[in-house]
Amino acid sequence: MWLPISLNRPLVWVALAALPACIWLTDAMLRMVAVSLVIFGLWDVWRQVRQQRQRYRLSQSAINLASDAIVVCDADNRVMAVNPAFTEITGYNSQEIVGRKLETLAAPRHDKAFYQNFWSTLKATGCWEGEMWNRRKHGDEYPEWLKVRAITDKQGNISHFISLFTDISVQKAREHDLRRIGYEDPLTGLPNRRRLHDLMTSRLRHLRAGESLDIALIDIDGLKSVNDSLGVEQGDRLLARFAQRLAGYVAGSVVGRLGGDEFMVIRTTTFDDHDPWIASLREHMCRPFEVSDHLLRLGITIGSCRAPEDGCDSGVLFQRLESALYSAKRLGRNHSLRFRPALDKQDNPQLALVSDLRAALISGDQLELHYQTQHHPGTGELLGMEALLRWRHPLDGMISPGDFIPLAERHGLMAELGSWVIEKACAQQAHWQHGGMPKLIVWINISALQLFQGDLETQLNTCLKRYQLKPSQIGLELTESVLLDERAGDMGPRLKALSDQGYAIAIDDFGTGYSSLGYLKRLPVDKIKLDRAFIRELPNSKADAAIVKAVLAMAAGMGLEVVAEGVETLEQCLFLVNAGCTIVQGFYFARPLPAAELEQRWAPPLLAAAAV
Ligand code: C2E
Ligand code: MG
Ligand code: MG
Repeated sequence: MWLPISLNRPLVWVALAALPACIWLTDAMLRMVAVSLVIFGLWDVWRQVRQQRQRYRLSQSAINLASDAIVVCDADNRVMAVNPAFTEITGYNSQEIVGRKLETLAAPRHDKAFYQNFWSTLKATGCWEGEMWNRRKHGDEYPEWLKVRAITDKQGNISHFISLFTDISVQKAREHDLRRIGYEDPLTGLPNRRRLHDLMTSRLRHLRAGESLDIALIDIDGLKSVNDSLGVEQGDRLLARFAQRLAGYVAGSVVGRLGGDEFMVIRTTTFDDHDPWIASLREHMCRPFEVSDHLLRLGITIGSCRAPEDGCDSGVLFQRLESALYSAKRLGRNHSLRFRPALDKQDNPQLALVSDLRAALISGDQLELHYQTQHHPGTGELLGMEALLRWRHPLDGMISPGDFIPLAERHGLMAELGSWVIEKACAQQAHWQHGGMPKLIVWINISALQLFQGDLETQLNTCLKRYQLKPSQIGLELTESVLLDERAGDMGPRLKALSDQGYAIAIDDFGTGYSSLGYLKRLPVDKIKLDRAFIRELPNSKADAAIVKAVLAMAAGMGLEVVAEGVETLEQCLFLVNAGCTIVQGFYFARPLPAAELEQRWAPPLLAAAAV
């Protein structure tokens, strides 16, 4: 290695000047001085050489230690030197690569234009930085982040290129994984909900004249029982098989998984055969699956729609599919239901009602909560109250929740409506608690859609904080269908968390749903509300009398309380007292009433006066 020695140091010049003097000077003394000067000069040169060597060794160590590959090439881009990181990344050692052109490493991923641009930028600006794909000695291609500098001589001609690069294949793989996580369902490899939205939007945008989209939202019935009986691993295997079969059957269509046991199929078609298509999907997907030596025959529920007839926006279509699926589930499982286009027609009174309900939610002053009290059937003692939603329509008068709640559920308004109820019920409970009304639980009805479209838990906790209430002052009524709706996820842990916080939990309309007594054992339920269908014909109906007694006995055995709903007569009341029922709710004691009327009846005179 050539080591430049600096000549603009005075000692060197003095030594050079003293050198002839050592020979020609006759005076011994002066000669000695000249020799000393020469020795000094030589010592300085030696010191410089040592320092340069040390500097060279240090920079060589730094280059060797660098984790970036470093390559020095000549003006023809032939490799002159490489560092160990280069060997580590590319697999070529110094002997193998020195003298070869650096292009040897290029992977055939970039086109001619890319390299043209690379060279023209490098020559014009003296540097280039960016991502480039190269090939290792063993053939695999990898991406690198490359920085190249052109080194010029005194005349300004390029004499060398110095390149630094790092292997970014790990980062790229991670980026790819992240992209996949964002858009792909990890279990089945199918597009996830987000990606399905994009794909639906893109298919809608590319629809040509005469083409339609058939869209099916498919829900596997009873996946939960497969998980419970065969284990989650087998449940996952079943989902993967289901996905495979579905994707194979509708090749060319978009197939995705929205989560849990919900799948979606989107096909572009020129045929008007929506219903036969759904029937064929059902027929194919209901054939048995073999999972760990079991032949499983699945039930599936399908909500479907067709674009552009049922909507041209993916958000609207998703909502309509969910509504159709939800309604299909209400019919009992294993049904298919197409979103009814009639709902979309402007002259449809139901649609007008939906838009009125939207307006009512915004203004808030048409909605009210009424409260129905619960009593001991023998003593009449006040034991609790249920908040029941009322809509005072400006033209149509009072509309029953039985009419507008299913509408809100179908049209995506339930989460909002539900939060309105929670907010108002908590505010009312706070007012009562701080105002001296009897300390009772206020029970709130919760729709399934609040559980999977809204964040019920956060909403409840925020309201409690706002109104300084304790969870034990609020009760949640859920119907059996909510507990079994797999779209809400496994309700067990969610209910347990709510119950652990102190919320009381009741099963509403018990006996009308898909009564599965198993969940009563599994879930942290405090009360069951026996539906009024079993009370109506008491005490005359022998069958109802037997059912009521059996439910009361079972509940007593499990430590649960029973509320009999819809008690209208003294006879019903007496029967229930004799059967051991301790809580009733019904017109016999009270109809649902506005809060102010309730206060007049039950509050101490001060609060009632304040309310007036
Ligand atoms: P539910 O939760 O079972 O409420 C009891 C229903 O029975 C109420 O009807 C109540 O007025 C009625 N009822 C009470 N006692 C008697 C009686 O002695 N005889 C008869 N014939 N009926 C009686 P309402 O207020 O029309 O509510 C109907 C359903 O609407 C409720 O049934 C509940 O499922 C739903 N609902 C009401 N408010 C809300 C709410 O805020 N959120 C949700 N998600 N659902 C609600
Ligand atoms: Mg209720
Ligand atoms: Mg009920």
